[in-house]
Amino acid sequence: MTRHDLIIIGAGPGGYTAAIRAAQLGLNTACIEEVPALGGTCLRIGCIPSKALLESSELFREAREKFSGHGIVLPEVKLDVAALLRRKEQVVNTLTKGVDSLFRKNKITRYLGHGKITGPGRLLVENQQERIELEAKYILIATGSKSSGLPGVELDGDRVGTSTEALSYPEVPGHLVVIGAGYIGLELGSVWRRLGAKVTVLEFLNRILPGMDDEIAAEAKKIFERQGFEFRHGAKVTSAKVQGKQCVVEYEGGQPITCDRVLLAVGRAPNTDGLGLETVGIKPDEKGRIPVDDYFATSAQGIYAIGDVIRGPMLAHKAEEEGIACIEGIVTGYGHVNYDAIPGVVYTQPEIGSVGKTEEQLRDEKIEFRKGVFPFLANSRARTLGQTEGKIKILAHAKTDRILGVHIIGPRAGDLINEAAVAINFGASSEDLARSCHAHPTLGEALREAALAVDGRAINI
Ligand code: FAD
Ligand code: AMP
Repeated sequence: MTRHDLIIIGAGPGGYTAAIRAAQLGLNTACIEEVPALGGTCLRIGCIPSKALLESSELFREAREKFSGHGIVLPEVKLDVAALLRRKEQVVNTLTKGVDSLFRKNKITRYLGHGKITGPGRLLVENQQERIELEAKYILIATGSKSSGLPGVELDGDRVGTSTEALSYPEVPGHLVVIGAGYIGLELGSVWRRLGAKVTVLEFLNRILPGMDDEIAAEAKKIFERQGFEFRHGAKVTSAKVQGKQCVVEYEGGQPITCDRVLLAVGRAPNTDGLGLETVGIKPDEKGRIPVDDYFATSAQGIYAIGDVIRGPMLAHKAEEEGIACIEGIVTGYGHVNYDAIPGVVYTQPEIGSVGKTEEQLRDEKIEFRKGVFPFLANSRARTLGQTEGKIKILAHAKTDRILGVHIIGPRAGDLINEAAVAINFGASSEDLARSCHAHPTLGEALREAALAVDGRAINI
């Protein structure tokens, strides 16, 4: 029986980051992963391939719609879907191999197979060839999540599928129906819309992007509609199946839709399949998540959990933060994640970035706030980019001026939001941000102007 100080189950962003931090801190570390490529959902079938496709599809759209406005005249712009998918695979392969080399560099032992807890401090790895029994002082569960199903939606692994299939459609669907207006549905819907598909989004609620700031989500919806998205709200999907060469989707509140492909994107569920939690008395909560304390300890001695498999937003960087904090907690006795400063980004065009509280949350919590808004229309860099849609909104405490929330829809919002996250993490006031010199001409100046606007003193508007 081989023994390690720490064995991590799952090599996604949570698990692999934790493994590297543990090795840095001197723990004899191993990681069990059932898929040959390291990197988890994020690198293989999530963040990275989706962003690769978003980049390619946006370039295609720009080449067709924007280049001539810059005086760049191309002959006919054509699409090679196979080449676009190959590029995406190359990006994924390079990054997953990068994690391989990080494991080697940090001397992390890797086990390929399904990991299962068999009792306190004991694990079993099973693959087609062998069964390996292992022992560890600490076990870290980082098994992530999987797409949630929906009753009546018959996934066939091809035409009626999840995000995984939508990352690899071999041709542009004539008509794609997306079930669910969350960020995954909107990002992948954007990819195929830009490449020419008709996209209909069926959403149960009367808004898109649940959980995001209302004002920003409403502005996003208008922009997406201008891009050709069709939204049907109050549409509770009851069935979707393949019928001949087409798919048929039925929903409450409207006529059935016949289409070429269906993307089910109604959220993700924690992954605890065959993990042996019962052997150590861990009981998942009502949503299937593993309950943990502030130090990511489960109810079982020496067993910890992080990432999508526990509470909180299902985001790669949240999993990474937790991985580092958990390991530092084990080794040094202290590890902390500031959940008020975890940004969220939707990589549509324009991007949407958000950190901290929304206006609705502040009202619900009866926290008095001041609000500063600045439109990209009045930002010189946005003008030069030709991307003036959107705005930045800063919410600051009415008395202390501490920044409580920042919400951005506009160019490079996904990059801009990091400055806001740092500000919140450092407990900055809107005055702090307003008095920080920002380079000109940059999009970041719009953030500073929004901070000035909190006090009614924006300059360029
Ligand atoms: P995962 O990445 O899910 O990794 C878990 C790993 O554990 C997997 O590799 C799995 O094979 C392995 N595993 C599970 N059970 C076992 C077992 N018993 N034995 C061995 N191995 C096991 N997040 C962002 O922050 N930004 C984005 O842009 C973004 N885009 C996304 C786009 C899509 C289409 C999807 C689906 C997700 C996206 N996410 C994004 C979410 C992000 O992928 C997850 O939040 C993140 O991967 C969670 O990390 P994790 O380490 O908890 O788990
Ligand atoms: P997210 O959890 O952010 O990925 O978003 C999933 C979206 O799917 C939410 O906006 C849900 O309201 C929506 N949704 C859930 N169930 C259904 C359903 N049966 N029909 C249509 N939309 C749904």
